[in-house]
Amino acid sequence: MELGIKGRTALVMAASRGFGKAVALRLAAEGVKVAMCARGAEDLAEAAEDVRTVGHELLGGSAGRVLARPVDATDEAAVKGFVAKTEKELGPIDLLLVNAGGPPAGNFSDLDIGQWEQAYRLILESAVRLCGLVMPGMMDRGWGRIVQITSVSVFQPVENLLLSSVLRPAAHGLVRNLAVEGAPHGVTVNSVAPGYHTTSAVERLIAKKIEQTGCTREDVLAEWSAEIPMGRLGDPDELAALVTFLMSEPAGYLTGQGIVSDGGWVKKTF
Ligand code: NAD
Repeated sequence: MELGIKGRTALVMAASRGFGKAVALRLAAEGVKVAMCARGAEDLAEAAEDVRTVGHELLGGSAGRVLARPVDATDEAAVKGFVAKTEKELGPIDLLLVNAGGPPAGNFSDLDIGQWEQAYRLILESAVRLCGLVMPGMMDRGWGRIVQITSVSVFQPVENLLLSSVLRPAAHGLVRNLAVEGAPHGVTVNSVAPGYHTTSAVERLIAKKIEQTGCTREDVLAEWSAEIPMGRLGDPDELAALVTFLMSEPAGYLTGQGIVSDGGWVKKTF
C-alpha cells in the first residue's frame, strides 16, 4: 500500500529507544524527514544515525534528513525550541508522535502527591503543550496526523500501575476531543495503547527480575506471556507499523480512536 507521506516532516518525541525509535525508523523508511528527541543524549546520536541510514539507503537523494536533540518533554522552553528548530530546518510539522517515558509503578498507598504532580506533568501537561504548539499549524495548512502513545491502562486498570491507570485515560480523553476539533481541518488525532512489548524499558524489567530471582529470560517471558492470549510479548516494530499507518494518507477518515495492540490482553467488548 502506498502510504503517501514521502517528503513530509515528522516530530517524534522520546525516540532514542523503544517505541519512539521504532516509529522514527518506520517513518524514515517511508521517506519522511524526522526530528527526534529524547530526555538525555545517551543513545540518541546512535538512534539518529540508524534513522538517517534507513532513509538514505532505501530512498537516496534528500531522504534520511534527521534532526536529533536532547529535549525533556516536560521542559516548556526546550520543547518550544525544538518545535521551532524542526520547522526551520525540516519544514512545517505534518506528523506528530506524542510520547515520553512512563510514570513510576505503585499502588495508592505507595504514592505521594509529588509523584502525582510529576506524572501529570509527564503524561498530560506535556501532551497538551506539544499539541498546542503543533496542531494549529496543521489546521491552518489543512492536513496533519497526531498519534499519542498511551497504554492498555486506558482500557483496563493495571495492577501496581495506578498513576498510569488514572492519567492515561485522561490523555486519551485529550486525543478524543482534539480529534473533533481537528476533523474539519484535515487533522486526525488518535492514540495507540500498547500492552507488553520488548522495548528497552521492558528489557530493563526483565533484567531486574532475572537479578532478583535467578531465573532465565525465557522463564520471565513465559510467565508474562501466560497472561496474553497471543502467548508472547509484542515487538516494538509491530506498534510502529500501526502508528505509521495512522499517520498515512489512506488513514484520513480514522480519528479519535484508541487502538489497543496487546496480543488480546485487554478484555473489552467495544
Ligand atoms: P523506553 O525506555 O524503551 O524508551 C523511552 C524513551 O523515552 C527514551 O528515548 C527516553 O530518552 C525517552 N524519554 C523518557 N522520558 C522522557 C522525557 N521526560 N522527555 C523526553 N523523552 C523521554 O520506553 P518505551 O517502552 O518505548 O516506552 C514509551 C512509552 O510507552 C512510555 O510512556 C511507556 O510507559 C509506554 N508503554 C510502554 C509499554 C511497553 O511494553 N514497552 C507498554 C505500555 C505503555
